[in-house]
Amino acid sequence: MGEFELIARYFNRPARRSPLGVGDDCALLQPAAGMQLAVSTDMLVEGRHFLPTVDPFRLGHKALAVNLSDLAACGARPLAFTLSIALPLADEAWLDAFSRGLYALADANECDLVGGDTTRGPLNICITVFGEVPQGEALLRSGARAGDDVWASGTLGDARLALEAFRGTVRLSGDAFAAARERMEAPTPRVALGIALRGIATAAIDVSDGLVGDFSHLLRRSRVGARIELAAAAKLLGASREAVGEEERRIELALSGGDDYELAFTAPPSARADVQGAGERAGTRVTRIGSIEAEPGLTFVDAAGRVVPRHFESFDHFAA
Ligand code: ADP
Ligand code: MG
Repeated sequence: MGEFELIARYFNRPARRSPLGVGDDCALLQPAAGMQLAVSTDMLVEGRHFLPTVDPFRLGHKALAVNLSDLAACGARPLAFTLSIALPLADEAWLDAFSRGLYALADANECDLVGGDTTRGPLNICITVFGEVPQGEALLRSGARAGDDVWASGTLGDARLALEAFRGTVRLSGDAFAAARERMEAPTPRVALGIALRGIATAAIDVSDGLVGDFSHLLRRSRVGARIELAAAAKLLGASREAVGEEERRIELALSGGDDYELAFTAPPSARADVQGAGERAGTRVTRIGSIEAEPGLTFVDAAGRVVPRHFESFDHFAA
């Protein structure tokens, strides 16, 4: 199977929402009148972002999921994506499963594959997504204000727990491992929640490298600080929560775990019912975990509001 047959077999389907998809020198996209185009790109490298043993169906899902998560954080609705892929060989069973996983999530989000590039090389997957958001309504990192509440969507920490189980640093029961592994290998991008939070959230970011690290980016862009309630954070672990006995460890996993693809966002206290309503419409749990302060920096408090000195690592590809 040559390059062009491979593209035709696995990566060429009629575009549904875009005027021109795969097959020409460029694809053509048509955002609706009054919409801005939201663009984001994310690369996945074997051994770095996924284990060589990962199921190709789940890898197809995850490669797109991490990109859709960025659109979600901006409140953008997905339109289309491109796929640039380096493959060590043209393995039909692998390509079949990978493309099925990719298209299942693409279809669920009405997002067309409109182009890309295919080359031989060590497995590397780079997707660029395009979405649309009404002019001026994109959720940004820079909009948090002192007094706002801090919220997190869904569950945090389970993906990291699965990674630790793979590494052998924790032991999980079969059920807990399956639940945690699902979160690591097949995260759900919170696209519907991002859209529902337009006009409600003041700032948002998606959590890929751990809540504390990612939320710190939002705080810097907004030039504010935050206090996070550790007791609230302890409740963020999902289906594998029972497996982690110690509260301290649950807090650490939830706050610095990584690979979660949830949204962390801010909204004024007057919008609490609206935030809950957005969560219900999107079918995603939302949890209030703290508040924004004028003073820069991140502090952690116990249930009584007393400051607890804590430090959490976040993920950095180039950290020593
Ligand atoms: P060019 O040489 O003009 O860059 P290519 O020969 O690389 O074009 O690709 C031919 C067509 O197939 C283009 O429309 C390109 O966008 C598309 N394409 C190539 N690889 C992929 C892929 N992995 N997924 C989707 N479309 C692809
Ligand atoms: Mg090319």
